[in-house]
Amino acid sequence: EVDWSTEAIVERRNRFYSASQRKFVPYKEPLIIKRGKGQYVWDEKDQKYIDLLGMNLCISVGHAHPQVVKAASEQLAELTHCTTMFYHPVPAQYAEELAATMPAGQDWVVHFTNSGAEAIDLALLMARSHTGNIDMLALASSYHGATFGAQSVTGISGFRHPVPQLGGVAFVAEPNQYRGIHGQGVESYLAEVQRAIDSSTSGRIAGMIVEPVQGYGGIVPMPDGYISGAFERVRAAGGVCIVDEVQSGVARTGDAFWAFESHGVVPDIVVVAKGVGNGIPLGAVIAKRNVAESMADKFLFHTYGANPVACAAGRAVLKVIREERLQENARTVGAALKARLEDLKNHFPLIGDIRGRGLMLAIELVKDRATKEPAPEATLAIFEETRRNGLVASRSGPYRNVIRMCPPLCLSMADVDDVMERFIRSFKSVAS
Ligand code: PMP
Repeated sequence: EVDWSTEAIVERRNRFYSASQRKFVPYKEPLIIKRGKGQYVWDEKDQKYIDLLGMNLCISVGHAHPQVVKAASEQLAELTHCTTMFYHPVPAQYAEELAATMPAGQDWVVHFTNSGAEAIDLALLMARSHTGNIDMLALASSYHGATFGAQSVTGISGFRHPVPQLGGVAFVAEPNQYRGIHGQGVESYLAEVQRAIDSSTSGRIAGMIVEPVQGYGGIVPMPDGYISGAFERVRAAGGVCIVDEVQSGVARTGDAFWAFESHGVVPDIVVVAKGVGNGIPLGAVIAKRNVAESMADKFLFHTYGANPVACAAGRAVLKVIREERLQENARTVGAALKARLEDLKNHFPLIGDIRGRGLMLAIELVKDRATKEPAPEATLAIFEETRRNGLVASRSGPYRNVIRMCPPLCLSMADVDDVMERFIRSFKSVAS
């Protein structure tokens, strides 16, 4: 018997969840999610919402997609688990298919994990093992996960706990084109990368980790020329180049399957999770063979890594994205939504910036467009209103003044009309 009453759920969470796990919630009042289909979710009272967050970017091809459900449930019924100690075709074929999504002309290998943070830890280990160097560069306003390793390269202080992190990380100012310390000058941000190498490391580094579009940082896309310029400097200092595609990957940015591809770079290590499994726990490091092989002397075993159910779901996700042309959908529907949001900006001075690529978009709210002073209170008020109007999104950014939109990739043009109508109503009720 499951008790769906709000009071019972709240009471149980308060009594039995740890404080740090129950704290990270978007709304003042609890939102209970009972079921999902496509780009929509329903609460326990059967109220429908557009899931503008893809339940935190995990739902790529849509809630309860029939092909993913079929693939995962058939695998669940036949064999739920066997570990990588035993041989099974599904993870092996999925590894081949994932490797095939990487740039041609390189030999790519896959190491499966259960989550993004675990894959980040592995990427850091790989970079250090391969180069023999310790120092890593990471961006301020980055988020890479909750493990010790992933926290150590996470620049947002709210996600870092006051205990010793792994050392050897130098943080570099993020090239935020709206409110970064150097405004829009890409060269100045690249000079920061060089300065970090020269003054905060031994000069020989293990690598640099970058989200092509920062997620929890407030949907901050890396400007053209930044990733390639940074990677040149990193390689010149002996480091490897890591991209974290946990949020930006799996066709989300529309122009490319992996967001790094739009930057003309070939990373050494790519970290993936969330959307690859459409909600089923699945993560992976995809690395150049020679980089991954430098760890061959030791075992590195994740009990649930390469779980056949998760890999069956992962295979179905790749197939559905291809068959339903979801990358193209992310590009066209994302562009339409962005254009409409730009128009919203013309009507509400509270909106300081609209940004993002494909279906990874953000509205940043400010008290004053000239000073760009963040408006977290108004953001919260509008955000609560959007919920009442049937949208689920999230607030993010270091100042909690960014409304983050990362819906399932099947969002339709008709949904864009609905989303905008609801945003307009929400903005009017708070900002007029
Ligand atoms: N990298 C990024 C960019 C993320 O957004 C997240 C999760 N929000 C992670 C890594 C960590 O993934 P997980 O929560 O699966 O450990």
